[in-house]
Amino acid sequence: MPEERTAWCSNQECKSPLPLDHSGPCPKCGKTGKTIGIQLSVTAKGVPSISGSRIREYVRYNKLALVTLAVITLVSPLVSILLPALYGLLVSYALAGLGLIIGYRAFIRIREIERLF
Ligand SMILES: [Zn+2]
Repeated sequence: MPEERTAWCSNQECKSPLPLDHSGPCPKCGKTGKTIGIQLSVTAKGVPSISGSRIREYVRYNKLALVTLAVITLVSPLVSILLPALYGLLVSYALAGLGLIIGYRAFIRIREIERLF
């Protein structure tokens, strides 16, 4: 550990830097007293690191959800024809809402992160 010594006047109001071998009164304030400080410098060595990972992203299909979605899409217009006007409309809306929910579940985005080293 390399060290560096510095000296300064002990007068708290002065603290003027002094040569290490200085003796006698301070040239600036005239008071006697010298403080020697030792400064140690430490160098830390770091090891650089590299990390790698492989990311695989894909979409998985939910077959059941897709089939259900297809059935709903096909049945929905028929319902409005087969059922009395208001019921047909309501059931059709209900099926459309259900289709929306199933549609969200039909496709699943999968992200796999594999750490290589
Ligand atoms: Zn001084």
